[in-house]
Amino acid sequence: MAGWPVVGHEWAVDLLERAILGDRLSHAYLLTGPVQVGKTTLARAFAQALLCEVGNGVPCGACRTCQRLAAARYPDVQFVMAEKNTIQIEQVRALQSDSALSPLEGRRKIFIIREIERATPPAANALLKTLEEPSPHVMLLLTCVRRNQVLPTILSRCQVVGLRPLPLDQIQAALVERWGVEPERAALLARLSAGRLGWAVRAHTQPGLWEERAQRLDELQAVTGGGRMARLSFSEQISRQPETLEQVLGLWATWWRDILLIQHGTPGSIVNLDRRAQLVEQAERYSPQQVEGALQDVLQTARRIRANVNARLAIDVLALRLPVGT
Ligand SMILES: [Zn+2]
Repeated sequence: MAGWPVVGHEWAVDLLERAILGDRLSHAYLLTGPVQVGKTTLARAFAQALLCEVGNGVPCGACRTCQRLAAARYPDVQFVMAEKNTIQIEQVRALQSDSALSPLEGRRKIFIIREIERATPPAANALLKTLEEPSPHVMLLLTCVRRNQVLPTILSRCQVVGLRPLPLDQIQAALVERWGVEPERAALLARLSAGRLGWAVRAHTQPGLWEERAQRLDELQAVTGGGRMARLSFSEQISRQPETLEQVLGLWATWWRDILLIQHGTPGSIVNLDRRAQLVEQAERYSPQQVEGALQDVLQTARRIRANVNARLAIDVLALRLPVGT
């Protein structure tokens, strides 16, 4: 028998399944958690469980509805996501006029709205109306990465389901069993994913992402090896790519943490396994104080950028503060 097409998040699956079976459904759910942890996958599976033609609270995976949903070709389930980095009021208005109509096929209409924190204030306020006066046949499944950036009035009208990173051995096993990844590579991907299966799968299936990671790590070497002008010119270039900034800083943090782990004699849990030799070399080049300082600076910069400070300024400061390498 097929289960939910979801790896991990067992308690969340259990909660949603029991809500379906016990007929205790909310009209809106907010799935929160890190980027690529599995929020949209869970939302899609929940939609399948709700609309599956077998109707026992578990997606059968085989009926026409389940299959069309898996291929994103089911008319009563619509995805809404940011266009040019924000969710616009026009998108919410389109959702509202669509939700006023009866479902075409199923019992209900489901809107999966990704990263609701990207809604502009007018869009968020418009959506609030829909949440306050729900149509009986409409369900909203929202996702967000930064819960503190969601309007409290939206939060209070949704059942919040918080997803956490998965254990790394669960990710490694899923990569081997479901995606046929070699065990050694699966171990590396699992560690780099920091518990986000979606990231690991994408890194496996899209070699471009893998190359990008290598490029980002090389850039870090170029920054620490460069002078003031090189550092500032890097900062200018990277701060023009706000959508990748957070990922770059996350990657840099893993790098400095790995060096620190090697310096402390606990290399067993380093993340960037494929660059062990380079990490060992750097562990000898820098003092533990320098590495600790760099790690704190990177984390602090990521926090400041999340709090919406001027990215260019924050990266300028970071680039100038990183210790000098070669
Ligand atoms: Zn089905």
